[in-house]
Amino acid sequence: MYLVRYSEVFLKSEPVRRHWESALVKNIKRAVGDCKIRTDRGRIWVEGVINPEKLKKVFGVVSFSECEHCKLDELEKLVIEFCKKAKIEHARTFAVRVKRVGTHDFTSQQKAAELGALILKEFPRLKVDLKKPEKEIFVEIRDDDCYIFDKVIQGVGGIPLGAQGRLVALFSGGIDSPVAAWLMMKRGCEIIPVYLDNSPFTDHTTLKRVESVAEVLRGCQPDFELRVIPHGDFLLRAKEVLSRRKMENYTCILCKRQMYRTAEAVAREEGAKGVVTGESLGQVASQTLENLLVLDEACSLPVYRPLIGFDKLETERIAREIGTYERSILPAKSCEAVPKKPTTKAKLEKVLEVEAELGEEYGC
Ligand code: ATP
Ligand code: MG
Repeated sequence: MYLVRYSEVFLKSEPVRRHWESALVKNIKRAVGDCKIRTDRGRIWVEGVINPEKLKKVFGVVSFSECEHCKLDELEKLVIEFCKKAKIEHARTFAVRVKRVGTHDFTSQQKAAELGALILKEFPRLKVDLKKPEKEIFVEIRDDDCYIFDKVIQGVGGIPLGAQGRLVALFSGGIDSPVAAWLMMKRGCEIIPVYLDNSPFTDHTTLKRVESVAEVLRGCQPDFELRVIPHGDFLLRAKEVLSRRKMENYTCILCKRQMYRTAEAVAREEGAKGVVTGESLGQVASQTLENLLVLDEACSLPVYRPLIGFDKLETERIAREIGTYERSILPAKSCEAVPKKPTTKAKLEKVLEVEAELGEEYGC
């Protein structure tokens, strides 16, 4: 049996808490498979043979412990058995920590002292150290039920997936956008990942990479299905117009604005409430305040950029942790439409002039 702790669910009003809790229970079931789940005053109990690695990844799970259960009148006996199984005699010092919910004729501290004395009697070479023990035995008493454990495994934390509605992510498969999407998932948003296929300026290697990265995030959200939308035709036509106007340095801005429009259209179709991108201020020449201002103008939904203040190394650290990094650095053809010197100071008036020319065909 596993005792699962969650945090932020706790801070909310009753109806919100119930909504979040049921999302969390559903997500745990979906992640770990066949199991029995029960909730009780700030805790979730999962019964069954499960893979703890899967439980760790469920958003909203702060920590969990594999535990043994008994009734209050069996506690003494089970604590000693548990200590034997946990090889408590390998430690020099120990502490018993007791938490209690319900009405009892003893305090948590009294029960901890009582159990500590019992353990000392069984293992006389041990010493009690309440400050820095080598071994801790935790006991949670809830009315007549007791749960004993000795390890606390950290989970990913955050808010249960689905508790916050949906967002469209512009998902390229590079290092940044998967991390950006994951961070919003961690705050409870279900993600619809959209990949704009720039072929013939990229090829199947780029598509294979993004598909492979999406597969990793499917471990966090089972219906994380990549939408691949052709974008190469627009880019070809935009390049023609830009080249005629000697404005090749605007290629990436025009391309990105059209990506934002496509993302917005998908979001409106799906009832999603915004768009997520992996942009980070100043990371590449094109991600300047001036350029982001011009990009935002193309999209009337909020654009969320969770990486905006991150250093590349911070993003890479998260990418490694969530398992997307290795796939994001797979060899893939980079976009051949990128000009020699993309502008860092795009001007909206100039962009609008070019788009007016492209407008009819592409809905700019
Ligand atoms: P990433 O590491 O996410 O690829 P990047 O550092 O390469 O980002 P850009 O290429 O400027 O930066 O892209 C900025 C953002 O635009 C990406 O994080 C992603 O959200 C979006 N984006 C870029 N290319 C595509 C694409 N082909 N399909 C969908 N979204 C894209
Ligand atoms: Mg990229």
